Amino acid sequence: MIPLILRIAVPSPLRRLFDYLPPHNAANPIPGQRYLIPFGRGQSVGILVAVSDHSELPREKLKAVLKQLDQAPLLDAPMMKLLRWACDYYHHPPGEVFQAALPVLLRQERSAAEKGVAHWRLSEAGAALDPATLARAPRQQALLKLLQGVTPSGLTASAIDQHQEKWLPLMRILVEKGWVVREERAASALERGSASDCRPPLTDAQQQAVSAINSDRGFQVSLLDGVTGSGKTEVYLQAIAAVLAQGRQALVLIPEIGLSPQLVSRFARRFAVPIALLHSGLSDGERLSAWQLAAKGEAEIIIGTRSAIFTPMKQPGLIIVDEEHDGSFKQQDGFRYSARDVAVVRARQLNIPIVLGSATPSLESLHNALAGRYRHLLLPERAGNAIHPTMRLLDVRQQPMEEGVSLHLQQAIRHHLEHHGQVLLFLNRRGYAPVMMCHDCGWVSQCPRCDAHMTVYAGQQRLRCHHCASERPLPPQCPDCGSSDLRPIGQGTERIEQHLQALFPGREVLRIDRDTTRRKGSMDKLLEQIHGESGQLLIGTQMLAKGHHFPNVTLVGILDADQGLFSVDFRAAERMAQLIIQVAGRAGRAERPGEVLIQTHVPDHPLLKLLVEKDYAHFALATLQERRAAELPPFFHFALLRAEALERQAPLAFLEAARHCAEQLGHDGVWLLGPIPAPMERRAGRSRAQLLLQAEQRADLHRLLNSWAVALEGIKEGRKVRWSLDVDPVELY
Ligand code: ADP
Ligand code: ZN
Ligand code: ZN
Repeated sequence: MIPLILRIAVPSPLRRLFDYLPPHNAANPIPGQRYLIPFGRGQSVGILVAVSDHSELPREKLKAVLKQLDQAPLLDAPMMKLLRWACDYYHHPPGEVFQAALPVLLRQERSAAEKGVAHWRLSEAGAALDPATLARAPRQQALLKLLQGVTPSGLTASAIDQHQEKWLPLMRILVEKGWVVREERAASALERGSASDCRPPLTDAQQQAVSAINSDRGFQVSLLDGVTGSGKTEVYLQAIAAVLAQGRQALVLIPEIGLSPQLVSRFARRFAVPIALLHSGLSDGERLSAWQLAAKGEAEIIIGTRSAIFTPMKQPGLIIVDEEHDGSFKQQDGFRYSARDVAVVRARQLNIPIVLGSATPSLESLHNALAGRYRHLLLPERAGNAIHPTMRLLDVRQQPMEEGVSLHLQQAIRHHLEHHGQVLLFLNRRGYAPVMMCHDCGWVSQCPRCDAHMTVYAGQQRLRCHHCASERPLPPQCPDCGSSDLRPIGQGTERIEQHLQALFPGREVLRIDRDTTRRKGSMDKLLEQIHGESGQLLIGTQMLAKGHHFPNVTLVGILDADQGLFSVDFRAAERMAQLIIQVAGRAGRAERPGEVLIQTHVPDHPLLKLLVEKDYAHFALATLQERRAAELPPFFHFALLRAEALERQAPLAFLEAARHCAEQLGHDGVWLLGPIPAPMERRAGRSRAQLLLQAEQRADLHRLLNSWAVALEGIKEGRKVRWSLDVDPVELY
């Protein structure tokens, strides 16, 4: 008999697998099973990646695994293949990559047998109870009403969280009184669709797109490039219908805050099938349950954010990435993968079609479409009766401004409000003002731990840093000279909100940013308010740009388009253009035409003009040409080695050594740029530096990374820093 060696991915920062001997009673080792193993001084849960007949270590040095945790592999062969690709491509430690693919509860030593998730439902007495009985306990009353308003099967903790905070003690009282029953059940994370909606007849462009996608018999990437409101979602729905009809599953990836109740209900109203939702609001138990139902093929549609790309599927038929340009598909710490790119690889490995949809495609995807690697499906017109908003630049040079709002824009706001339109103003800066300054001595509210200013929050009377957790009370006087003439400089959404309130007394002003939507359920409440009425003023950050329909908005004002044009980050212009088009797309979605006014100090900026006078496609083509000339992505490929430490010299010393190491290994076709301090050198008290690798050929870059990434683990200067490798970085900070 051949002595078997188990090659196991163990959670550790090392870029390698670890060899173990099988347990005595090992039943048929299959990659994808979990094993409990001795590791370091303790034990750990690892995933079997390969079975081998030899090890580089002598047999007597190998330890035996302690226990085989699964009979059937948790990760099937296609998923194992995808994860191995991800380890190789991102050069990230396999233990962490394989862990990322498992729900938290399966990263521990527990059986994968299904466990229930707690539900709270009404007892018969509770169902019959008049809520007025609880008039003296309004929060208990609210819970009772909530349960009376849903199906008899009740709600899970995360569902109740959406409506009420700190509800558990109150719920316990209701249980004690016999009105509510707590029980553990499986399959909670499923929505069951009702198929109450019928399909609208498609436009010609939609029909062409659906036919093209449905004609695919194997792998094919389609870039669904459709203006906002052109009916991309309708194309997804009909493409999915064909997949379901073949008994296969569809996986839909959406941006982080794109999973609105509206979107989910649109799917649920169309299909009478179980839909699994995977998002950050789930409890661990719910996530496990959704994951298992997808793996068993019971969930026919899976909708989720970034990490849902690793959801196993029994009968995969189609992958859709909605708003494929969105930054939230890229994980920015730990295992830094792009869910969109992994999705394309997964579709290729599974030999199934994939659709990348956006009104503002990323330059990467557009480049692939232009090069003929992706099929380019265009939806140039809005669906239904809605017409495209008109966009105009407002030259604010030498114009009188009040709190960043020009008089011209003010007049337009007044006009639209008087004609019962809603007005939406966009400013991608939250807080009251980005900095506080002393008028007498020039002191500014510098963050003590970052190379950044602390933002003024007027309502809370605090200074807060957006880059670290630092905050403190607003100083009553200048800390340097004692003057009381402290002035907030510049505008954030909180300040604009106040200003609008003063300008338009009696109008409802609603602010939508991370600060006003932090509390659970607050976003839904705001959306409800917005949909209910007209004549409101909305002010918000990029949260407004994502997927929501605001049918009553007739005027969109972009307060500051210049931010993105003068940034050190070469992607800033692309991002700003995407934001402008996405925000503009909120206007005039119903029957009323929309108007978009964009304030700028550089009305002659060629890219801005192209965007506004032509369209996103023209902007994108011109920007692609600039990228090519500047040897930037998507024409050239980057990898970024970052390092940080409390001490300033340590990151630079590590990166110098890393550079030296690359030179020793040989780096044909790869330029080594740096090391240099990061654009924001100090953040959260740590000094940061980076070394950029640039190559025209991906193969050259990866040839170097293959040997270099492992070699970095041995550099002794590395012990004094935290370092990370980012392949295809999107942020160069
Ligand atoms: P997108 O995803 O491109 O923003 P949606 O699919 O949300 O667009 O469609 C925008 C609006 O147009 C929605 O209200 C949708 O119901 C409607 N719509 C989409 N396709 C059609 C169609 N073929 N006929 C009529 N209305 C449509
Ligand atoms: Zn001062
Ligand atoms: Zn800070």
